[in-house]
Amino acid sequence: MNADITPVPHELAEGESDCEHILTHLYEYLDSEMTEADEHRMRAHVAHCSPCLAELSVEELVKKLVKRSCAEQAPEELRLRIRAQILATG
Ligand SMILES: [Zn+2]
Repeated sequence: MNADITPVPHELAEGESDCEHILTHLYEYLDSEMTEADEHRMRAHVAHCSPCLAELSVEELVKKLVKRSCAEQAPEELRLRIRAQILATG
């Protein structure tokens, strides 16, 4: 894999490229492996972008639940359920 230096096309709207940024760095954020600047950018973005906030919250919750249950990976069903809950309340 050598795809981590793919440039973001400039015709994308600012919001879209930020959404991409979130999804690309989601796991770095969850593992606290982000630079401070990236983390700041991510927090600023999810503050006004509910789909990304939902995505982030889902993974955060799934990670916690998986840790507690000592499972290797959360079932996709659990992810979907948490996401539906977040989107319903947000
Ligand atoms: Zn977004």
